[in-house]
Amino acid sequence: MAQLPVRADLLGESPYGAPQLDVPVRLNVNENPYAPDLDVVQSIARYVEQAAQQLNRYPDRDFVQLRRDLAEYLAAESDVRLAPEQIWAANGSNEVMLQLLQAFGGPGRTVASFTPTYSMYPEYARDTFTAYVAGERNADFSLNFDQIRRVLDTEHPAIVLIASPNNPTGTAVSHGELRELLHLTASSGPQLSHMHASETLHDALPYDTQRASTIVVVDEAYGEFRRDGVPSALALLDDFPHLVVSRTMSKAFGAAGLRLGYMAASRGIIEQVMLVRLPYHLSALTQAAARGALAHRDSLMSQVAQIRVERDRLAGELTGLGLEVAPSDANFIFFGKFSDRHDIWEKLLQRGILIREVGPDGWLRVSIGTPQENLAFVTALREIISATGGERATGEK
Ligand SMILES: *Cc1c(COP(=O)(O)O)cnc(C)c1O
Repeated sequence: MAQLPVRADLLGESPYGAPQLDVPVRLNVNENPYAPDLDVVQSIARYVEQAAQQLNRYPDRDFVQLRRDLAEYLAAESDVRLAPEQIWAANGSNEVMLQLLQAFGGPGRTVASFTPTYSMYPEYARDTFTAYVAGERNADFSLNFDQIRRVLDTEHPAIVLIASPNNPTGTAVSHGELRELLHLTASSGPQLSHMHASETLHDALPYDTQRASTIVVVDEAYGEFRRDGVPSALALLDDFPHLVVSRTMSKAFGAAGLRLGYMAASRGIIEQVMLVRLPYHLSALTQAAARGALAHRDSLMSQVAQIRVERDRLAGELTGLGLEVAPSDANFIFFGKFSDRHDIWEKLLQRGILIREVGPDGWLRVSIGTPQENLAFVTALREIISATGGERATGEK
């Protein structure tokens, strides 16, 4: 029998993905629980209909109009003005970050992150033959700068990935911390003498050193849910040419099915990424649908405020049940600790409620749903906890 030439590093791996189970209350993948309004659906249909009339042609591979619309959206959402050349998009922000690793990672290079964090990061590294190094966060999930300094000094990563608000913990990194990280990474990357990077990127960097910068990717997939007074990293782009802010239409925008993620960064970074993208990676229909949705951003975003209120209310209820609750700037809540979290997860599922068993042992993550879904969840959880009383670990595990 012939044997497939399976890569040694893929032996025994299973494909990523949370279970897609058909249950009444699905609170496991941080989707927006509200379907788009009819006006949004119709706008998307109109844009797509127009694009379909030219489907014999390849799409605009630089999607200039979409980049302009995304820049406009970011200006409205975060009050930060960017040129369309500072925006780049792909089929979900996962693809944007994969492209960043294709452009700046690779054999002999390292990408670093700080756990607990998004479980896809090691996969981008594996798929681009980039070494993955994980430091740890503090017990309250904030960044630990001793760990950061150690990783930068010993590994000289080309890229650091920081999710803020973080998944699965929901916690955000402050501007002060981000600034400190951006100063520390100004010249902590790979040695310049080994590099063949573009002149434009070097010219963009004000630092004259032996080492390149470490690119800092702030993954703001949940940025729109941040609490008042928590600024977006977008505001730091002007000061730091090695900063990338990644965003997506999958979460706050209520368009996970669209597959549209994007980043904002210096022109030099975008130019490098353009070298590795596949030809015409963003379909004309995706571009059109995204523009049709962005044209109605107020309608799509109208639920964000309500989700934030629901989140804070639900966090209060979970605290009231005697649980530990990580402070959340996202559309989900990370809570614990349970001596047997799988048992809790399973008992919720038996009641038709699907949440996520992810992150450090003892913790569970629940996405914010509609008020009815949240009520069903908290009611079921209260029942389960009182029935299994002794199972909940109080304090240390
Ligand atoms: C959901 C999520 C994304 C977004 O993924 P898309 O590919 O844009 O759907 C990115 N980063 C984190 C941390 C996420 O949780």
